[in-house]
Amino acid sequence: MMVCKVGGAIGNDVDSVLVDLANRKDWVLVHGGSKEVDDLAEALGRPPKFLTSPSGVVSRYTDRETMEVFTMALAGKLNTQIVARLRALGSNAIGLSGEDGGLLTGRRKEAVRAVDNGRVLLVKDDHSGTVDAVNSELLEVLLHHGYTPVITPPAITANGELINTDADRVAGMVAAALHADTLLLFTNVPGLLREPSDPGSLIDFVPRDELDRFMNFAYGRMKKKLIAAKEALEGGVSRVVIASSRLGDPVERALSGLGTVIE
Ligand code: ADP
Repeated sequence: MMVCKVGGAIGNDVDSVLVDLANRKDWVLVHGGSKEVDDLAEALGRPPKFLTSPSGVVSRYTDRETMEVFTMALAGKLNTQIVARLRALGSNAIGLSGEDGGLLTGRRKEAVRAVDNGRVLLVKDDHSGTVDAVNSELLEVLLHHGYTPVITPPAITANGELINTDADRVAGMVAAALHADTLLLFTNVPGLLREPSDPGSLIDFVPRDELDRFMNFAYGRMKKKLIAAKEALEGGVSRVVIASSRLGDPVERALSGLGTVIE
């Protein structure tokens, strides 16, 4: 079993990944869609806002209105588009967001610490959170009957509240829950770079027990990918590859080790 995650940031080539996946067996796709959320937010006159945690992790500030935009963009538009495209490519894809069948259940963060002009603030109306559990039984039922799940945030709390949750970490958790051997995290860069602005500075291998040390190279959302990799490996996944979606046959290339291999 293989779990793939495609990014939604500018510069990703999601379609190449879909084309390469469509004629394979035993995989599940997780997607994000940050650009789609930003574009829809702008179009609706609600420009996106971001929070930076004291440790430097950037996340979307998701107030109630943004949560609606997030759901419209990811579950409403992008998930259905990806499923339609995969079906055209011959894959028996089925779209799911985290609330469907309680697929991704978690907790909303009560308060988020964010740095603003050098001061740490507590933000209390953020509808983001972390996933605690994946309903792997639902995925297994679908897989067993020949369906290929295509999963997107949001996740849902025990009270039925939708929460914005990071798609890389969802992919890591889904991979662990399905006992996948491989997790491929596709992005708009060749992998983890020693120098983020230099695509030639690829770190091609990270031994799993040195992952914490390599965290220092990652800024912004790349950090989330390393956290996702760590959670997946701790959950029993054998190998994680952070790889570019911008090359032909991206799945084939990532499986052959092109990118940052973490194991
Ligand atoms: P996606 O939507 O493709 O998952 P993200 O924006 O979430 O993309 O994460 C990839 C981004 O992380 C890169 O485009 C880059 O700007 C940033 N980044 C930060 N540090 C690094 C690093 N050390 N190596 C590569 N990318 C990095």
